[in-house]
Amino acid sequence: MCFTPHLEVDPRRRHLDWFVRVNGKILPMEDDYWLECYFRELEEARQAFSGAGLRIKAGLEVGFERGAEAAIERVVTGYPFDFVLGSIHCLDHLAISSRQECPAYFTRRDPGTLAEDYFGALRSAVESGLFDCIGHLDLYKRYGYEFFGREINDLHLGRVEDIFRTMARQGTGLEVNTSGRRRCLAEFHPSRDILLLAKKAGIKIFTVGSDAHKKSELGYCTREAAQLLSELGLRTSVFASRRPAFL
Ligand SMILES: [Zn+2]
Repeated sequence: MCFTPHLEVDPRRRHLDWFVRVNGKILPMEDDYWLECYFRELEEARQAFSGAGLRIKAGLEVGFERGAEAAIERVVTGYPFDFVLGSIHCLDHLAISSRQECPAYFTRRDPGTLAEDYFGALRSAVESGLFDCIGHLDLYKRYGYEFFGREINDLHLGRVEDIFRTMARQGTGLEVNTSGRRRCLAEFHPSRDILLLAKKAGIKIFTVGSDAHKKSELGYCTREAAQLLSELGLRTSVFASRRPAFL
């Protein structure tokens, strides 16, 4: 079991999302105290479950922002993480992952602009080499569908293939994130057709994640996600000390 709390690094959103809850208190994220607490709590959990055959891993999900590479690198190399996931949550400093915030982005852009913004940011995230794996690749579908309809399903075409070839070359993995199914989407993130493009490009490392934000969501549909990978002729990997191994 690997936890992946968020790290937010966009200075323009410092007042919005640079916060973390520790022992019921909201603390500022730029102070590393929360990371010290995180690693201490993981160690306590490892000891508590040591006889239960459960391996507890230290992960992190970074909300990637161009220009913040040094800040990300400081954290991901400064602590003994098992797994670092890189995700795009914000475009033009607006969270397309948030129901409240996303209309500010989607109502003032067309699908072509979304595609350029998203895949441009994704390319930078991949080329930074900071991440073991890319999280919920087609997240823009979550709320974008309401604004752009079915056109959203093809935005990756002609844009993602070359990024996938870079990922394959570097050994960067791709996460199958089950949260789409909790939010009434028919598919996981990314969808089956995108996973097939990843396979075609030569990506070999795939992880599954439930994106749980509460206990009841922990591990949601991860068996089905692993099953889907197997149907597509792909294998599920897990990470330890930032190195992948097939499950
Ligand atoms: Zn995320």
